[in-house]
Amino acid sequence: MTLLIGTPARALDTLRRQVALADGRTIDYGALLLATGAEPVRLSVPGADLPHVHVLRSLADARAIVGAAAGARRVAVIGSSFIGLEVAAALRQRGLEVDVNRP
Ligand SMILES: Cc1cc2nc3c(=O)[nH]c(=O)nc-3n(C[C@H](O)[C@H](O)[C@H](O)COP(=O)(O)OP(=O)(O)OC[C@H]3O[C@@H](n4cnc5c(N)ncnc54)[C@H](O)[C@@H]3O)c2cc1C
Repeated sequence: MTLLIGTPARALDTLRRQVALADGRTIDYGALLLATGAEPVRLSVPGADLPHVHVLRSLADARAIVGAAAGARRVAVIGSSFIGLEVAAALRQRGLEVDVNRP
């Protein structure tokens, strides 16, 4: 096994069975497993890019939410997913009012 850190895959050529890396190299493959995970869905609504609107995926996201919660009284959580409800429970434990929304 070869571990390549800091070299994201940028393109797939399924006819040639090659992965193109960001640093210009290519890797040949016989079978390909895509395991690139998921990113939070960001809303395309006015205000979604304001600084007090957060998503949760990384440790940095969690720290930003904890920091913002310190000066907040009421929080809206959009999406009642496993992660959304964990956030709601954690913020309730910090004494904030929490509203959870789902479609
Ligand atoms: C806040 C939070 C808490 C969670 N808590 C739990 C829990 O308690 N228990 C539980 O079971 N699950 C939990 N989950 C869910 C769990 O983290 C995910 O289900 C799991 O990480 C998904 O694994 P994955 O391998 O599919 O993707 P990921 O872990 O997202 O890994 C994908 C990898 O692909 C890499 N990648 C992306 N694009 C490229 C590219 N172009 N080229 C190269 N590499 C690329 C990424 O950098 C990343 O390293 C939690 C998730 C979150 C956000």
